[in-house]
Amino acid sequence: MHGVHADLRTWMQHAGMTVSIDAVGNIRGHYAGATVDAPRLIIGSHLDTVPHAGAFDGILGVVLGVELVELLIGRRFHFAIEVVGFSEEEGVRFGVPFIGSRALISDIDDSLAALAGEAIRAYGLDPAKIPEARTTGPTVGYLEFHIEQGPVLESLNLSLGVVTAIAGQSRCDVRFEGHANHAGTTPMKLRHDALAGAAEWICAVEREALAGRDLVATVGKIDARPGAGNVIAGSAAMSLDVRHVDDGVRSGAVARLLDGAQQIAARRGLTFTSELRLDQAAAPMDAGLTELLAQALRAGEYPDHRMPSGAGHDAMIMAKRMPAAMLFLRSPGGISHHPDESVLAQDVAAALATGERFLDELERMHG
Ligand SMILES: [Zn+2]
Repeated sequence: MHGVHADLRTWMQHAGMTVSIDAVGNIRGHYAGATVDAPRLIIGSHLDTVPHAGAFDGILGVVLGVELVELLIGRRFHFAIEVVGFSEEEGVRFGVPFIGSRALISDIDDSLAALAGEAIRAYGLDPAKIPEARTTGPTVGYLEFHIEQGPVLESLNLSLGVVTAIAGQSRCDVRFEGHANHAGTTPMKLRHDALAGAAEWICAVEREALAGRDLVATVGKIDARPGAGNVIAGSAAMSLDVRHVDDGVRSGAVARLLDGAQQIAARRGLTFTSELRLDQAAAPMDAGLTELLAQALRAGEYPDHRMPSGAGHDAMIMAKRMPAAMLFLRSPGGISHHPDESVLAQDVAAALATGERFLDELERMHG
């Protein structure tokens, strides 16, 4: 073990955990329960990050898990605790996110194992043992602490927020086609300007999202051709990204947006085409565990603020196999995936206190 694994191993052992590394490079610290057959609460987040990142996305959730166990000073519950530092959540290296958490729920196919196999071997691990990374035995659920990575908690002057669901995502490639022509000699009424059609639609996308509660829709990329200042654009290719915690709301919004684009195209003498690139379902958090987390907040006299997560997290993978809950910590300035990413010490203390109360509530249920 080296680097972050070696540091975490030391901290985990100091807190009374038995430490191992599984075949995809997740570090796993096991803190036994009062009995050998006790079910397990998994607390985790990811160790990897993005280029030019900050110091808190992911790793904060792992360190908080270790610290929670350390604060128990040997106290045993009717459930065991496993703190997991997941590998490869961001998908930077292989273009596939959540490899670490997917291994825990046995959702790694042969092509993914082959993709990461060389790196796994180079690290001194055996890709043939990936199936053994699967979590076995009874679990009480999964808990993840994570920075919000957005401006909402700060705007409400709150330290913490309980995640209700991780939003589903639709991503499309779309294109308006018209006729490129001379910008000086083509009268306005005789044009088929693909970029003007695209501009009208982008504003319609914004209006649609503003009209829906917690709906976000983004055109983040546009490529107008031929791309000269004195030529009417003949084509405009764009991205569309739509997210919502309710899959019906999301697919309804996407359908209306694509339909609206057809109407704009028809009125302007353009053609419109679209291709769906991603249709990822939302991951609701578990009602029971989420309520327990909210109780823990209220017991500490923190406001019980519920919010969706617009970004994906390991919790959305774990939620496929077990009850999952998530607690967000305020992101100062709403900044993440940037060296200026930070947290406030008071918010980390609040998360820790809430985590301790959560464990107590869980023990009352299982004791
Ligand atoms: Zn993250």
